[in-house]
Parts: sequence; C-alpha cells; structure tokens
Amino acid sequence: MDEVLLGLGSNVGRPIDNLREAVFRLHEICLISRVSSIYRTEPVGNINQDWFLNCAVLMETSLDAHELLDRILRIETAMGRVRTIRSGPRIIDIDILLAGDRQISDDALTVPHARMHQRAFALYPSAEIAAEMRHPLLDATVKDLLERLVSEEKAEKTSGPDWPPRLVL
Ligand code: AMP
Repeated sequence: MDEVLLGLGSNVGRPIDNLREAVFRLHEICLISRVSSIYRTEPVGNINQDWFLNCAVLMETSLDAHELLDRILRIETAMGRVRTIRSGPRIIDIDILLAGDRQISDDALTVPHARMHQRAFALYPSAEIAAEMRHPLLDATVKDLLERLVSEEKAEKTSGPDWPPRLVL
C-alpha cells in the first residue's frame, strides 16, 4: 500500500467548505492518516484572481496512481470543477504530490508533481504533516524542500504581512 501526499486548493465560492468536502470525498476512496491546517496563499501565474486556501492530505491507498488520479478527477468534476483558463480560479484542485517513492511520467500523470518543490502553497501544508517524506528525484525531504524554497524566496521577498502564507484555521 502506498503512502500518498495530496495538495488541495480552492479559491471559488466558499473555499473552506470546498476543502472540507474534498477531504470528505477522499475519505470515501482511501484511508486518510493526516490532514494539515489550512493556509491562505497568493495565486501563482494568473495573479488576477482571489487568493487560495490550501491544505495537504496524507493517505494510504491500494489504488494504482492512475486509478487514484481518475478518482480525483471525478471528485473535482462532481464538485463542479470546470476547466477553463489554465491557472485560473477553481472550486477545487487536487494534486498528487508524492506517491511513496514512485516516479511516473506519462501523458496523464507526473509524480512527484513537477512543480511541488517550487510552490509554497504545496510545501507549507505538506511540511506540517509529512516533513520527513522523501522526494525521490531531488534527494530531499519535504521539510528540506520548504527550507530551500523559503531561503530562495527570501532573497527576493524579505518581509511583508503576507509571508509566510498565513494559517487561517
Ligand atoms: P490541473 O487540475 O490544472 O492541475 O491539471 C490536472 C491535470 O494534470 C490532470 O488531468 C492530470 O492529467 C494532470 N496531472 C499530471 N500530473 C499530475 C499530478 N501529479 N496530480 C494531478 N494531476 C496531474
């Protein structure tokens, strides 16, 4: 059985409720071991949208990674996700960040998630619940990745009320 780390985000409607509903729906398809606090984070890429709420979920599943992705996409669709503009606002986004030490790269799926090490919105909540989980390609734990990102970000953005992402719950 694989230990899988998921990153969840929402910035449409009632984001806290959307995250809760997604966790509830995930609970129906896998064994959830930990859920992080919720963080408020700045949108990346398309900045002309509301800030996101994000959390991470650590779970165990016997589903194969592609089956898990299929279930995740069904949850997103059932919750009303409509894919319009890339990096645009979304009711719910669920990413597979890590799946044990698996490495997958095909048309449907990239695991570890290709950008997780560059994204504060993925690393802050992940470090809270899976600090010692290893990224199999970068030879680093989640905690190491967060520390690296924070030190890099600090070179550009040294202070401000919105850094680091604020814990809202
Ligand atoms: P988005 O919801 O915009 O993040 O994109 C979802 C699409 O990204 C899915 O349909 C997947 O085919 C693809 N994808 C590739 N790698 C991953 C991953 N690690 N987790 C979730 N979706 C992924």
